Amino acid sequence: MTETFDLLVIGAGSGGVRAARMAAAAGARVALAEARFFGGTCVNVGCVPKKLMVYAAQFAGQQQDARGFGWQTATATHDWPALIAGKNREIERLNGIYRRLLDDAGVSIIDGYARLCDGHTVEVNGRRYRAEKILLAVGCRPSLPAVDGIEHAISSDDVFTLPQRPQRLAIVGGGYIALEFAGIFNGLGSEVTVLYRGQQLLRHFDHTVAAFAAGQIAESGVAIRYDSTIVAIEKNADGLLCRLAGGDSLAVDAVLYATGRTPVTDDLGLENTRIQRRDDGSLVVDERFATAEPSVFALGDVIGTPELTPVALAQAMVFVNQQFGDNSRQMDYAAIPTAVFCQPPLASVGLTEQQVVQQGIACDVYLSEFRPLKHTVSGSSERAMIKLLAEAGSGRLLGIHIAGDEAGEILQGFAVAVRAGLSKAQLDATIGIHPTLAEELVTLRQASYRIGG
Ligand code: NDP
Repeated sequence: MTETFDLLVIGAGSGGVRAARMAAAAGARVALAEARFFGGTCVNVGCVPKKLMVYAAQFAGQQQDARGFGWQTATATHDWPALIAGKNREIERLNGIYRRLLDDAGVSIIDGYARLCDGHTVEVNGRRYRAEKILLAVGCRPSLPAVDGIEHAISSDDVFTLPQRPQRLAIVGGGYIALEFAGIFNGLGSEVTVLYRGQQLLRHFDHTVAAFAAGQIAESGVAIRYDSTIVAIEKNADGLLCRLAGGDSLAVDAVLYATGRTPVTDDLGLENTRIQRRDDGSLVVDERFATAEPSVFALGDVIGTPELTPVALAQAMVFVNQQFGDNSRQMDYAAIPTAVFCQPPLASVGLTEQQVVQQGIACDVYLSEFRPLKHTVSGSSERAMIKLLAEAGSGRLLGIHIAGDEAGEILQGFAVAVRAGLSKAQLDATIGIHPTLAEELVTLRQASYRIGG
């Protein structure tokens, strides 16, 4: 007999697990199908292992800095397999927690690859399951361009399990993943070259702060080559040879492509439904996550909204409220804070200066670049930058952008101020915590310049 559920979720990533647990807690009979790993990209090959590696890399800089404060340290060596083993232990623990949370919530777990047979039926390993509603939370996977020899390259899915750390690493791309891994491998002692096809790294971020961050990354030892494209990758006795457009070449041990991610929707059985896909493979949904097939919903990275775990989690909470709760909530995508964990990190919330200009808003820009107190003694040349955008006249906070130590930790709190529509005057009225980098945000007296209006 076919098992029947109120909700069948496909995909045990951040969004899928949260939706399954919360729907079950609301009293629904819920099943969740997953073919690969529990916790999805974030837990297994994304945010969590990446951040652990960022910590690993930061010890290198801290050791350097310690010398300025009088510590006599011998040059340390790094044990890559020990890092991978420690990281793996934590990921296995988290996989277990995710499974246990689902079990405890009463969610039926179906291990295997799920395909839609119609709007109410899913097949996994030859067995059919029926559900009143189906939720697709299948996420994205790394997307590598069709370059000659691309089979020799790796993606962010592979980088966490490399048997050894590449001594010479080329990273293709100029977004989150490229710059985070540039910082990780540079910190661990590799020679890193970032090959970016354009001129403006992190081009969706505020351009001044992104360019400043790029300068700091270069200062830390990463070679950044702009307007640079690989046309072929050749394997030879020495490792890999990247042939670049224009005739130059680069010899490395590994090439990491961080050129965006593509939705996992090719083999979902969408042809058996009315679900619409965009050209990039993402699923078309309305503001209630509904596809064109009335019983099928989708959320998370697969629907083309910002590919961020906290966004998927928020979507899952709203979806469950709408379908199994009092239907009082809606998703709000305004002022989503985000951080790139490069070295030093960059964090951002609200509008960038280029968006303010585009929208024709009259705005005061407060820009400050400075040497953090720690580095007055550490000997490091690292600097920090903050930019605050406040609407002219009202002073309403429009955006805050920080490149500097602990930028993500600092900005999480200030994101509340931007979301709440607070004004620059309210920041000014707040007493700073001294001496911190964050206090700069409440002590910006004079606008650096005004735009628009
Ligand atoms: P991003 O979209 O951030 O960056 C992709 C980069 O690759 C861009 O610089 C882009 O260049 C370049 N690119 C795209 N296609 C090609 C190509 N064919 N050849 C050469 N370069 C190319 O994607 P990522 O892969 O870095 O990350 C995917 C998403 O995952 C992010 O957008 C983010 O939402 C999420 N993420 C979030 C993290 C966090 O919260 N800290 C960490 C990691 C990922 P161009 O600028 O010209 O378009």
